[in-house]
Amino acid sequence: ATPTALMVGTGRGAQLGILIKGPEVLENTRRVDTVVLDKTGTVTTGRMTLHGVRTAEGVTEEEALRLAGAVEHASEHPIAAAIATAAADRLGTLPAVEGFENVPGLGVRGVVDGRTVVAGRESLLAEHGLPLPAALAGARRAAEAAGRTTVVVGWDGAARAVLEVADAVKPTSAEAIAELRALGLTPVLLTGDNRAVAEAVAAEVGIDPAQVYAEVLPEDKVAAVETLQAEGRVVAMVGDGVNDAAALAQADLGLAMGTGTDAAIEAGDLTLVRGDLRSAADAIRLSRRTLGTIK
Ligand code: ADP
Ligand code: MG
Repeated sequence: ATPTALMVGTGRGAQLGILIKGPEVLENTRRVDTVVLDKTGTVTTGRMTLHGVRTAEGVTEEEALRLAGAVEHASEHPIAAAIATAAADRLGTLPAVEGFENVPGLGVRGVVDGRTVVAGRESLLAEHGLPLPAALAGARRAAEAAGRTTVVVGWDGAARAVLEVADAVKPTSAEAIAELRALGLTPVLLTGDNRAVAEAVAAEVGIDPAQVYAEVLPEDKVAAVETLQAEGRVVAMVGDGVNDAAALAQADLGLAMGTGTDAAIEAGDLTLVRGDLRSAADAIRLSRRTLGTIK
């Protein structure tokens, strides 16, 4: 394409709420055949709310919320915001946390009232010697089967509570995915969340269950993109989180949600300013039109 055509395309992108980093980006956009979508914050709103608290015998909901809320208060994850907000609403002020640590894709830990509290995936708690009692394991499975994300909370040698959180699919996501399909692209869902939740979201927006990659650790999101590329696919990745940045950079085309983190926006080739997935389809159409008409 001529420099003029690319400049016109870039200007048209800005009108559509698509910020393009450089003229060469439009060339890559046209070749894409697979669109990898992060779940939380990209396909879903990322605004999670707490839906339920299950505790082990002898533990009150207040105690579980107080400890979990205190550690999650120090985290920026959407799950953490749901838990910290619900805890503060219910209990007022929360205790301080010391030695806070975020374990990407797995959870958080910190010391509250002199006790080490771990909140996150069951595997993270297992690593800390905090096994989940059978009754809570059953509650966790039931919640996940219902499409909820669960956070296990443990302290003093055992997992003692299961918190259920959920967010909603964005109202425009299903339409956007239908548009991507109509453009001949294969949508893929990529998430660190559990499989049941990922498949429930996929079904809601029209992604084939065979194209769902769940329970993927942040560092393995890049590997997932590389695997698709090794199969000969030209991959666009759409994401919003810090943990999507490396995959956005690895993809042939990185699309960052404008509502997302700075790390994602820096790593992407395009920014979808409105955080609306339909802009991803707009970007593909725009590049095809820009490069197809003027060669
Ligand atoms: P996604 O790929 O959907 O954006 P993440 O990689 O951010 O998800 O997180 C994957 C999983 O790690 C979450 O579903 C949750 O189980 C766990 N997790 C991550 N951060 C936290 C946290 N702050 N508190 C509890 N659990 C967390
Ligand atoms: Mg995300």
